[in-house]
Amino acid sequence: MEFAWDQADVAFRRELGDFLDRELAEWDRSETGLGSAVYSEFSRGFVGRLAEKGWLTPHWPREYGGGGQGAWQHFVLGEEMWRRGEPRGPQYMNVNWVGPAIIKYGTEDQRRKLLPPIARGEVFWCQGFSEPEAGTDLAALRTKAVRDGDSYVLNGQKIWTSYANVADYCFLLARTGSAADGRDGISVFLLPLNTPGAQVRRIPGFVGDHSFNELFLTDARIPADCLLGEENKGWEIVRRTLAYERVGAPRYARAALVLDRLAAEVRTSGRLADPGIQEQFGRARAACEAARVLVYRVIDERAKAKEPSPMAYQARAAMVQAERAVGDLALDVLGSEALVEGALGDAQFRNSLGAGIAAGSYEVQLNLISRLILELPKD
Ligand SMILES: Cc1cc2nc3c(=O)[nH]c(=O)nc-3n(C[C@H](O)[C@H](O)[C@H](O)COP(=O)(O)OP(=O)(O)OC[C@H]3O[C@@H](n4cnc5c(N)ncnc54)[C@H](O)[C@@H]3O)c2cc1C
Repeated sequence: MEFAWDQADVAFRRELGDFLDRELAEWDRSETGLGSAVYSEFSRGFVGRLAEKGWLTPHWPREYGGGGQGAWQHFVLGEEMWRRGEPRGPQYMNVNWVGPAIIKYGTEDQRRKLLPPIARGEVFWCQGFSEPEAGTDLAALRTKAVRDGDSYVLNGQKIWTSYANVADYCFLLARTGSAADGRDGISVFLLPLNTPGAQVRRIPGFVGDHSFNELFLTDARIPADCLLGEENKGWEIVRRTLAYERVGAPRYARAALVLDRLAAEVRTSGRLADPGIQEQFGRARAACEAARVLVYRVIDERAKAKEPSPMAYQARAAMVQAERAVGDLALDVLGSEALVEGALGDAQFRNSLGAGIAAGSYEVQLNLISRLILELPKD
């Protein structure tokens, strides 16, 4: 793996950084407000301007509104966004994995209809995987899709559906086979959220002002061409989709930003001279850097068009460790101040909680690392 950035990447990062600093000068970068109407409105306008520059989906093929650029350019973009608090809002789902899944598994009609609006920044998508009885054990999901002529009829409930309250479409998993079929009876549907019978309800969460929702489906009838890929073959799509999602958000970039802000606060108070505090900062910085390098290994695989490997689990676990290291440090150095709602330490602590659960929990990543990378026995 080559560690040095080439000149084009360096120039791109600089040009992008200048653009973002201008665009975001007035934006309230506080990390709360995710999923709020104000955040989503800002995000829609901002991504439109990003799309005009060709920087929303640079890594997509040109025929679907992309720029035909490589995986590294896409990742530079992700880092610069997360370093600034992810101003794209829910759009990171569209561009990181919803669009790529449609490119890989969709029909030509689905690609032509669904991809250009994403590339222009006009629509939001959400992810309808988890259910009250199916989180880690996703294959236990019960939402049913029954074929009826040219339609499917959906019934069931999703939960923790981030941004469903502002989304236009849901990338939905539903059971088309029997419960006994497990993973072999699941399909993916591209569900327009304005379908009669689809109802979204916001729910509170403890991971900051995140936009959590429930999605209820009651005899929601959708055209059969909303099916992505083959019926009952959705698990392969999910497996691949989650591999994109696991490293799609460069969380270490945001953790490093919080670390810089913490260092500035501690320096002002004179406490940075304490060798114990210096060591803690060093450890947290090392965790961020380790996560960065492990994620780069996954991006390197992608840039070389290799299949996603178990390294994605390692990279994801390292990102959680980085978020937690910075969160713990905030609590240690700021004390009770860090727990004030909305404070830097509080936001980081909550981010690290969410990071350890979303896209497959931390414990599950460790299980996968032990089995697939370390080849340890299951028991
Ligand atoms: C910020 C955030 C955003 C999210 N956004 C979405 C979204 O947009 N769409 C969506 O569908 N879902 C979303 N989720 C839900 C997320 O995917 C689930 O919370 C996750 O899959 C875990 O499922 P669960 O909550 O049912 O916990 P459970 O599966 O019940 O797990 C509870 C605990 O048990 C542990 N555990 C479970 N099984 C094992 C095992 N075999 N070995 C060791 N430990 C185990 C887990 O690690 C966890 O700590 C989001 C969650 C968060 C926190």
